[in-house]
Parts: sequence; C-alpha cells; structure tokens
Amino acid sequence: MTWYRMLGRAVVMTTMILSTCVPTSVHAAPPTPAVLALRLRSPDAGTPPGPNGTVQFIGTATVLIHYQGFTILTDPNFLHKGEDVHLGYGITSERLTNPALGLEQLPPIDLVLLSHFHDDHFDKLAQEKLDKNIPIVTTKEAAEHLKRIGFKRTFGLSTWDRIDVEKGEARLRISAAPGRHGKAGMQLLLPPVMGAVLDFGPNLAAPSHRMYISGDTLIYDDLKAIPQRFPDVDLALLHLGGTRILGVFKVTMDGKDGVKLMQIVQPKKAIPIHFDDYDVFKSPLSDFAREVKDAGLERQVVFLAHGDTYTFTPSER
Ligand SMILES: [Zn+2]
Repeated sequence: MTWYRMLGRAVVMTTMILSTCVPTSVHAAPPTPAVLALRLRSPDAGTPPGPNGTVQFIGTATVLIHYQGFTILTDPNFLHKGEDVHLGYGITSERLTNPALGLEQLPPIDLVLLSHFHDDHFDKLAQEKLDKNIPIVTTKEAAEHLKRIGFKRTFGLSTWDRIDVEKGEARLRISAAPGRHGKAGMQLLLPPVMGAVLDFGPNLAAPSHRMYISGDTLIYDDLKAIPQRFPDVDLALLHLGGTRILGVFKVTMDGKDGVKLMQIVQPKKAIPIHFDDYDVFKSPLSDFAREVKDAGLERQVVFLAHGDTYTFTPSER
C-alpha cells in the first residue's frame, strides 16, 4: 500500500470515529425551495427538433440528452483507460474503459448537469477544456468550487430547489432530488450529491417527458419522497457500480440497491450507468442484471453499452 493510500485510510477512519460523535441537530422547518431561471440563446432557425428524444451513454455517469432542442451533458468524464482520478484524501482510482466520445467530438451543449464534484464526474479534461461560459446546474458546493476554477455560469441547488430553463419556445424544469454519497458516518468525507428530475415542457404541469437521474447515492429514507413529489417518472438513469472507498466503504448503489431504487421510484424504464468504468466500482453490471431478473423487472430496464443511444417518445398524460 502506498503512503498516500495509508494516509487516506487513516483520515477516513479518524473521520468515521469523529463523525459518529457529532450530536444530531434539532430539526428546523424545511426551507422553501428556491426557483432559479435560465434563458438560453434561442435556437437558430432551421429544422425543428423531431418529436422523440435520445439518451446516449458516453461512459461512467456521462450521458448526452437531446430533446425538444435541448442538448444536456451530464457529469462530464472524458479520461481514458489507464488514467487515474483523485477522489480526495490521497485516494485514487484507475479508469478501466474509454469514453465513447472525446470532449472535442461533443455537439454544442446547452447546459451541463452535475450530480457532485468528484473527479470521475467532472474530470481534469472537463475542468480545462469545457467552455467557461457553459451553464452548469449542480449542488451549491460544486457551484462554488466551479466558480473558483473559472466557470462563470454555475447554478447551485439544494434539495427540491429547481431551475426553469427556456430556449425559444422549449421549456425544461430541473429539480434537485435527494442523494447521499455514503452512509451517515461518511458524510464529512464526501461531497454533497444531488439527484435530478428533468421535466420537459411545453406544459411543465404535465411534462411530455419526466427523467430522473439518481446521482451517486445509497438507498436511504429521503429517496421515498421522490415518487411522492414526482410520480410517473418515464425514465430513470441509475448510478450503480457499488463503489467501495479503500475497498471497504460502499458509496454508490450496487446491483441490489439499483433494483431497490427502481421499486421506490417506479420508473417506466430504467437505464443503468456508472458501472465497470473504474477499479473502485466493485459491483459489475451483471449483479444488477441478475437482480433485475430475480425481481421480474427485465421489461423495464434498457442496457446500453458505451456509445449506445436510447430513443424515447413523448409521454401520454
Ligand atoms: Zn461516481
């Protein structure tokens, strides 16, 4: 074990012990969710977008979403096989796969949706090469961090905050959903995470497509509020991988958890992402596939290889 891994383990252990000694705070009334607004440049005149939407899986938690003229990039990670990411406290992880596209091959992006600031979700290439004027919707903490490294249009959300996005006639509402990267004792070590619900217009009260992206979360009680606030999810993107920090602490859902989250959120379809890309991902996609089969959910799951595209049609509501 290298010295920085030993240091990382010592820091993690110490923080685990300390964090279990922190008294629980008195519950205050939940704050009113904030509503932000973002107006994008109207689309150039030309062929209007078709009726269907697409999700292209690039790798890790990176997907490209095209719908109603919006192009959204999630958790940009474009490192290649053999390159390392730094996860804090001296902990590193090696990428085992290549992204299906390079950063330079991306189409023009309207906004980046970022679940949290970790190197395998916003890597050094994204930090260096993404246009600093690109809008980035993320947690408050990640928004501050991105500002410090030069990104000018960051939008930080707390749980249930939302941002209403306009592009010409098209409408998109992104609401921040709960997510927790690790068990309660790990909170101090890991960045805050947000899931996201994307409601596509034109009528946001009856969205033509409702997409939920889990972010790097474990299963915990707060997730049960998602289907109460956002029923009828058309498509869920599930961050799996069963990531283990220092080989011990689970910080993302494994195959079994992925099925549990499907049973909580009840999406019409689900696509697993964030698996098999890094050596800290310990639960292979085959775990999830087996659990899906055992739960009788095979018809609800779409498996995409890197580079594959899933096409969806507008929902009837
Ligand atoms: Zn991750």
